[in-house]
Amino acid sequence: MSNKLENKRQQVSEGKRWVIKVGSSSVTKNGRGLNMEAIANLATQLASLVKSGKEVILVSSGAIAEGMNRLAWEKRPHAVYELQAAAAVGQMGLVQAYESCLQKHALHSAQVLLTHEDLQDRKRYLNARTTLRKLLSLKVIPVVNENDTVATDEIKFGDNDTLAALVSNLVEADTLIILTDQQGVFESPPQEHSNKARADNKPIDDISANDSFLDKVAGPSAGELGRGGMLTKVSAARLAARAGAATIIASGRVENVLIEIAKGKQHGTLLYPDNEPLVARKQWIANQLYTNGELVLDDGACQVICKDGKSLLSIGVQDVKGNFERGEVVSCVNSKGEEIARGLVNYNAKEAGQLKGKASSVIESTLGYVEEPELIHRDNLVVL
Ligand code: GLU
Repeated sequence: MSNKLENKRQQVSEGKRWVIKVGSSSVTKNGRGLNMEAIANLATQLASLVKSGKEVILVSSGAIAEGMNRLAWEKRPHAVYELQAAAAVGQMGLVQAYESCLQKHALHSAQVLLTHEDLQDRKRYLNARTTLRKLLSLKVIPVVNENDTVATDEIKFGDNDTLAALVSNLVEADTLIILTDQQGVFESPPQEHSNKARADNKPIDDISANDSFLDKVAGPSAGELGRGGMLTKVSAARLAARAGAATIIASGRVENVLIEIAKGKQHGTLLYPDNEPLVARKQWIANQLYTNGELVLDDGACQVICKDGKSLLSIGVQDVKGNFERGEVVSCVNSKGEEIARGLVNYNAKEAGQLKGKASSVIESTLGYVEEPELIHRDNLVVL
């Protein structure tokens, strides 16, 4: 291991707050019921991390698999409402399993069901943050899952990876660990290889989360159970990097993998942040998964906001799309349609449409009033 890599692994090992995501492939018996041995083993590792002084949040799937088991369903249904029902039944088993295993180590767990929308709403986001922080201070291990009764993102896209990254940003974790059935991000997409070449294909040791090489190699290689695939995991690592967290994508099948990582040992791929962490408020803006509108900027505006760190003025806006209110998060895209920034807009979609291409000095004569001279103030603008 190079010194550089050793230092980065060391930083992870010393990190105080870890978010650990386990997919269905790690905690179920091939999607049919919970793998109690795997859960007991995970609980032992979590307990040892907590006892060594770490604060740990677990993001775990597995509810549908356990629901199918409890309902004696032979086959995974296709209808989303049936999957939601299975998740509601199985979530009971999932939290029971973690709680009873952790109790053996004199620890408690707490069930936290979240949706991406919960983390988009500023008030609910702050509430979730306060609760999770309190739980951590009590040495309780929060067990987070997507609230499948009201949200179906994970069911449809296998996307607890994104939820885990959002939780990691929410609590300002140092490290996000994604345990999966792969050994990491491979140097080239595994499915592109003959058997012989596959044997030579190794996981990348460490790489910047923002390195575009990852887009080539993470390809859509979703396994049957972990439908999120490697690309979703890399995107999750990028989200976590925005807040300054490093991500390790590693195999949940390696014995005591979490303990080994905590010792600074090399497992999986380390995706480190190479950017300045965003302040908490800007993180929340950047983490919005969906926005209600889009401002198309001219080249001059792209330049001043990206390179010079200035506010966005209406004169630099060529087009306004979508329907948004004042104070909502909108995307700023360049003329090629690529999203370059995101921010809290000072005018609604109709007003912004009237102001596009116009100087700030004519806002009053155009609308009859002025809220602010900028369309998006730089304090509320995040360059991506
Ligand atoms: N959140 C669900 C679970 O915990 C989704 C996983 C899946 O689609 O299998 O089971």
